[in-house]
Amino acid sequence: MKHIEPLDNLITALARLPGIGRRSAERIAFGLVKDRRNMAAGLAGALDDVIRNVVLCSRCGNITDTSHNPCGICTNTQRNGRVLCVVEGPDDIQYFEASGGFAGRYHALMGKISPMHGEDISPEIVRKLVDRIKDENVEEVILALDTDVESDASASYLHEVLSGLKVRISRLAYGLPSGSGIEYSDPVTLSRALRGRQQV
Ligand SMILES: [Zn+2]
Repeated sequence: MKHIEPLDNLITALARLPGIGRRSAERIAFGLVKDRRNMAAGLAGALDDVIRNVVLCSRCGNITDTSHNPCGICTNTQRNGRVLCVVEGPDDIQYFEASGGFAGRYHALMGKISPMHGEDISPEIVRKLVDRIKDENVEEVILALDTDVESDASASYLHEVLSGLKVRISRLAYGLPSGSGIEYSDPVTLSRALRGRQQV
């Protein structure tokens, strides 16, 4: 097939999206070309709207719109500002909110330490977190990070940085997934579930 530059560019752009491989990118691109006026124009409009009007909260990193910055969680006085849940990215905030189990505020790190790739959490993000803890009189920080090597490194680093402050630091307990049996759990999950056991 003859290469058509705009189509090639679209496929390349789509293939960069998380979870989309080259084959899927081609299928989506061909679908968009076939329905340029509706599907493609609608997608272009939605993307433009997001680019213009969706931002990350200047205080916590949550996804919000330009007319609500700081976001609704940061400005909601009903929430407990003394407890700060530190997450890796804004998508984690959405998952915690969907669970309905947390009434404090959040702080998104926008990344994690990756010693193998020589990556660090941005010093500016860490400074912002320390400033928030001091300015907002935070009493407890919950490190709600993933369970991989990078997240463990991030948690240790943050624990070191924050241990000089007057703040309780906790990390999420790792339990067994609901609806799943012990025989299906990997050894790390099982040993963490044992360490994080609670009295009944
Ligand atoms: Zn916010």
